[in-house]
Amino acid sequence: MIRIAIQAKGRLNEESVMLLREAGVTIEASKRKLLARSEDFPLEALYLRDDDIPHAVAMGVADVGIVGLNEVEEKAQAVEVAHRLGFGKCRLSLAIPGNEQYASLAWFEGRKVATSYPRILGRFFAEKGVRADIHKIAGSVEIAPSVGMADAIFDIVSSGGTLISNGLREVETVLWSEAALIVTPGLPAEKQALLAQLLFRIESVERSRGMKYVLMNIPKKRVDQVIKLLPGMKSPTILPLAQEGWCSVHVVIRENELWTKIEQLKTLGAEDILVLALEKMIK
Ligand code: ATP
Ligand code: MG
Repeated sequence: MIRIAIQAKGRLNEESVMLLREAGVTIEASKRKLLARSEDFPLEALYLRDDDIPHAVAMGVADVGIVGLNEVEEKAQAVEVAHRLGFGKCRLSLAIPGNEQYASLAWFEGRKVATSYPRILGRFFAEKGVRADIHKIAGSVEIAPSVGMADAIFDIVSSGGTLISNGLREVETVLWSEAALIVTPGLPAEKQALLAQLLFRIESVERSRGMKYVLMNIPKKRVDQVIKLLPGMKSPTILPLAQEGWCSVHVVIRENELWTKIEQLKTLGAEDILVLALEKMIK
């Protein structure tokens, strides 16, 4: 049995639960308890605030966890980052009131900066030789300058919309973050094996993202040209059709190339093209 800590509610919760479900690990969604056992994998989920996940994993209260790298860096606990998950992408940036002139980091010298990430910011300022006053607050960081609580802020940004609506301007990016799977160092062998199994499944799910399974009918005499166009996983699958002179081609295509490839295939005589969702790509 392996125990995974995931965010109880918030931006990472839904995608964490969905990723596990796609990996064949279903956790009871209704009437959520703090600890929920999976029905189909030897795993239990421990629902926590994201701030508490690095510590829980470092202590071994949970064996693994899904949390933003921003929290992993800030909490500086002894955990290993086993895999980046590609969701919950954001950055930690410094922002100042929009009407301020800004030339360099020297602007921050002697200023008061509000943040929920004092460790990351402290380290950054120390590296850059800036002496600023870091003021830790737990939330509503972006209103701190307008209410006179601070001169600037250091906070999470994704689109930048929140900053703009609070009259702030992003001037420096300090850390790029995304959700990651973190692990207790020195996991016992039995749990290592479950973790390896889980990672294998997660990687199969990730590989299939943005991929489509495409089937089409092609005149046999064009098959060589079609193969050149479509490399596929190994090579495309070609099946004969009952109708003389035609065959069926099956191939995996990256979604962002889909329309270009389909147009090229049509000029080669492809007909009856079916595009299907691809759930998993298992190597
Ligand atoms: P908790 O109650 O668990 O402490 P929280 O309020 O601290 O939740 P959320 O706002 O739910 O945190 O964000 C959780 C994580 O999601 C952040 O630590 C960050 O890694 C990521 N994140 C935050 N804001 C964004 C955003 N705008 N876009 C994408 N990811 C984000
Ligand atoms: Mg939090």
